[in-house]
Amino acid sequence: MNQNIPKLMLTLCAVIILSFYGLSQEKHSGEHKATHWSYKGETGPLHWADLNQEYRGCGSGKSQTPIDINKTYKSDLDKLKFSYSEQPLSIINNGHTIQVNLNAGNTIMIDEEKYSLLQFHFHTPSEHTVSGKHFPMEMHLVHKNSEGELGVVGLFFVKGRKNLELQKIIDNLPSEINKVKSVNSVKIDPANFLPYKTQYYYYSGSLTTPPCTEGVIWVVLKHPVEASAEQINALKKVMSENARPIMPLNKRFVLESAQ
Ligand SMILES: [Zn+2]
Repeated sequence: MNQNIPKLMLTLCAVIILSFYGLSQEKHSGEHKATHWSYKGETGPLHWADLNQEYRGCGSGKSQTPIDINKTYKSDLDKLKFSYSEQPLSIINNGHTIQVNLNAGNTIMIDEEKYSLLQFHFHTPSEHTVSGKHFPMEMHLVHKNSEGELGVVGLFFVKGRKNLELQKIIDNLPSEINKVKSVNSVKIDPANFLPYKTQYYYYSGSLTTPPCTEGVIWVVLKHPVEASAEQINALKKVMSENARPIMPLNKRFVLESAQ
């Protein structure tokens, strides 16, 4: 036999090893495994800042959300203009909250600035408090403007009558975490959650989950809407308690719209 065979073997081995290396590299760069965080214990809100370099703002930020809303300043802020419409339900349990994803086309005008609705999700109990008191649930409607800035509308729920729009979500809760469930036959309309009066509190805050990024415009609706105790419990059962503790107001002011 000739001497080329060992050479060939070596080359083959090198090719195999290199392609394995390539595959594993690809796997690593494609993973981007998010840091695990939670609402309790060692990965809870008090430790978020230490879990990942990118979460440092959760500890050092001076304009964090949520806050307690007590002292407010009446202001002639514009009335909110919601342009929401119905679309097929697309829902995900991301392990932190139940979230409904939305297609483009739903917008809001906040103080002469247009924002598009990306998703809405829930917190039990409420994240914001009013004069120190929690509501049993709070919904966050997350919007983005053309500059990439976020504007979030917070909506409080009190226990009362059954909420028909909310029931569509409860009836279609995903059974698996991180898997989008699309239900084309069910149409959801974010406008159906809104209270009749849309007076609001307005302040500059942050995301309430890591990385707690600041520069988020917060619009918290003053008037709550109703959902039945069973409905709120159904969501709480799936999400557990997912409210970040109240953060200091520091040198911020909360404005209150007249209308
Ligand atoms: Zn939220």
